Amino acid sequence: MKMIEVDNLRVSYGSFRAVDGVSFSVEAGEVVGFLGPNGAGKSTTLRVLAGFLGASGGRVRIAGIDVAEDSQAARAKLGYMPEMSPLYPEMRVGEYLRFRAELKKVPRSARKEAVSSAMREARVDDFEDVMIGHLSKGYRQRVGLADALVASPPLLILDEPTAGLDPNQIREVRALIQKLGKDRTVLLSTHILSEVEATCSRAVVINRGRLV
Ligand code: ADP
Ligand code: MG
Repeated sequence: MKMIEVDNLRVSYGSFRAVDGVSFSVEAGEVVGFLGPNGAGKSTTLRVLAGFLGASGGRVRIAGIDVAEDSQAARAKLGYMPEMSPLYPEMRVGEYLRFRAELKKVPRSARKEAVSSAMREARVDDFEDVMIGHLSKGYRQRVGLADALVASPPLLILDEPTAGLDPNQIREVRALIQKLGKDRTVLLSTHILSEVEATCSRAVVINRGRLV
């Protein structure tokens, strides 16, 4: 089964074509790297996949659902970690994740367990009562990961999950991604080839808005 199908995707910012005819697909169960230099169009593509940005042309399906036709149903299939997670510094980790679970319509009765399990998987369970603003960048990143996990989606879309982390944190986040990839489909962007080699089974390479 195909988890992601991207067909001739085009995205423009004004007259600038940031993504110019990109096609690729990801099978359920794969861990795929979306590799390319800064400015290649990775984040733009992932934003469209995650339903946060409209395409100028082409088509995207998530688990068979067209994101333009039924954005809400498509979004329910995925957890998206943006490049800069919009975390609230004054909220506590557990409180933030409960709030996110509610937004993502996790049923009230399942919310507590959903949050505990996402915190456990992202290894922030020791920080439930800590304010997000007091966490290191590495741990804030993991809270972003817990957020992506909280509604138990079959697909994770992670935009540069190790950007800005120190070498220890990078090793930990990579190990975490490998573990998460065992029972989920993962598409992660990176500008570092060794990141793909460390965590992915294959790569889709993009440069200047086109696949190479
Ligand atoms: P990547 O994530 O691969 O670094 P992006 O998708 O962020 O690349 O950006 C692709 C291109 O689109 C870059 O040239 C960038 O400057 C441009 N771009 C990204 N976001 C916007 C925006 N909101 N408005 C105008 N141009 C943008
Ligand atoms: Mg980017």
